[in-house]
Amino acid sequence: MRKPLVAGNWKMNKNHADAKALLQALVDRSSEIPSGVDVMVAPPSLYLSEMAAHANDAVAIGSQDVSTQEEDGAFTGEFSAVMLQSAGVRYAIVGHSERREYHGETDEEIREKIAACVAAGIRPVYCCGEKLEERESGQHVSVVSHQVKTALEGFSASELKDLVVAYEPVWAIGTGKTASSEQAQEMHAEIRNVLGELFNSDFANSIRILYGGSAKPANAAELFAQPDVDGGLIGGASLKADDFLKVVEAAG
Ligand code: PEP
Repeated sequence: MRKPLVAGNWKMNKNHADAKALLQALVDRSSEIPSGVDVMVAPPSLYLSEMAAHANDAVAIGSQDVSTQEEDGAFTGEFSAVMLQSAGVRYAIVGHSERREYHGETDEEIREKIAACVAAGIRPVYCCGEKLEERESGQHVSVVSHQVKTALEGFSASELKDLVVAYEPVWAIGTGKTASSEQAQEMHAEIRNVLGELFNSDFANSIRILYGGSAKPANAAELFAQPDVDGGLIGGASLKADDFLKVVEAAG
């Protein structure tokens, strides 16, 4: 049985005091988190160590990114998966569409980031998803299958035992347009098929596949009720404790 995960991506939001207050609200209200749901939040990297020190068992801390480099060295501005691990961070979002678009991240780099996470014992939350024109031209399934294969081919199933996949249609991120529950289920089932082809069906059935893209209290329950949707990666609705906890409750 897969345990749902609801992950909040705070992106480049919240000054220091507001970030501390949001985490504190989640910690104070962690009795509202159903015991069958894992929760993670990914604050701006500047605050990660401090947030990890103030989190509790119910709220894990994740990073929004990680370096491709496994060893320390002259990589100004970067931080490694080993550093995240040493600072109490448990997950790293890898290959978010905003990193792909604004920082030119390639599938190859994303693969290296996953490898760095695997080596350091950080759970990678690997993001994939098609652009609007790819969906409109009917290429969405082949585009996402190709992304997943490129990122994951060559790893062993045991190396990827802590992998989380997030299906995030680019046209739904931050736009208020959510994929319908049928569109989400179709793609999640396809991603699970690809995982089965690359590894085996036990592995495919053990991996959590999150939906991301304008998920919020009003639509979370319907999305999470789909058989292959195992929780969500939440942007805008993770910035207020009330909204985020409602989404978390919908996964329970
Ligand atoms: C995201 O950035 O991962 C995301 C899903 O954002 P939003 O929920 O705001 O669409």
